[in-house]
Amino acid sequence: EKRMIELAKDASSRTRDGVPVDLLANIERGDEAEKALELGADGVGLFRSEYLFMNAGRLPSEEEQFDAFKLAVEKMEGRPVTIRTLDLGGDKVMDSTDMPMYRESNPFLGYRAIRFCLDHEKLFLEQLRAILRASSFGKARIMYPMISGALELSRSNEMLEKAKQELRDAGVAFDEEIEAGAMIEIPSAAVAADTLLEGSSFFSVGTNDLIQYLLAVDRLNDRVAHLYEPTHPAVVRTLKMIIDAAKSGNIGVSICGEVAGDPVMVPLLIGLGVQQLSMSPSLLPNVKYVVQNMDMTEAQDIAQMALETTDGSLILERLLDFYTSKM
Ligand code: PEP
Ligand code: MG
Repeated sequence: EKRMIELAKDASSRTRDGVPVDLLANIERGDEAEKALELGADGVGLFRSEYLFMNAGRLPSEEEQFDAFKLAVEKMEGRPVTIRTLDLGGDKVMDSTDMPMYRESNPFLGYRAIRFCLDHEKLFLEQLRAILRASSFGKARIMYPMISGALELSRSNEMLEKAKQELRDAGVAFDEEIEAGAMIEIPSAAVAADTLLEGSSFFSVGTNDLIQYLLAVDRLNDRVAHLYEPTHPAVVRTLKMIIDAAKSGNIGVSICGEVAGDPVMVPLLIGLGVQQLSMSPSLLPNVKYVVQNMDMTEAQDIAQMALETTDGSLILERLLDFYTSKM
């Protein structure tokens, strides 16, 4: 383990035949950026901002959010820090008197993430200003969770423009070139990904939700966990569609769901054309090892096999064989 960590720190993340793959960290607090950097992160691919709310058990102020984002951005020393706007609802609930708890029979299909933020302008603008202000201390990026279509994306970007104007008017510095992108984690966004190119500087695929919605399998329900199948042919094809759409629009695409940190899945994801993988920091060394010990051509063969195979368990078997041959 120690040797792998040493190796991860020093070497760059490239395939054996020289194709660079950015390995990024998923974090929930600003101070986690330091550990992520030690473990070899090329940046932060997902800062789950809702944890600032859930951990505090109340609404954090703009200042508190700014401090957390600034800390991550500074620690990353110019590497990108992708901050996801508030994704409360679904599995992420905040128990607080500051905010009503919505009782819903289908929380995963309900009032969560961008749906909630677009309805709470003041709260959303506060968060966007906090991110923008942090962007003047390094490289921050913004991503919107649970985008289902172009209208939500354009409304989110309008709010971002409004937050920028407020800061300009107040003479507060921020990165005018800051990038904003859509998370692709709802099937409608995947199918119509081309309609999200306008308004997205990048796509980030949230496979945890995407798989749950695509296969209609609650990601938290043990009874149906065996049906939650990341190698399901529909998942493989959907990933390919998203990546093709991103390529056609000349924007980057990253994956920030759990599969991105699974060394068995990584060759498939890279072979499909993903350039950035974001994962829990502790998984970085292992994934880096796999990336460094495979060729892009091998990954492409695996992706081709997966696109042609009709049985998800067979795809998984092939992935496991490949992984075992590398360890
Ligand atoms: C995802 O859905 O894959 C994702 C990265 O976001 P979260 O797990 O926080 O919903
Ligand atoms: Mg998600």
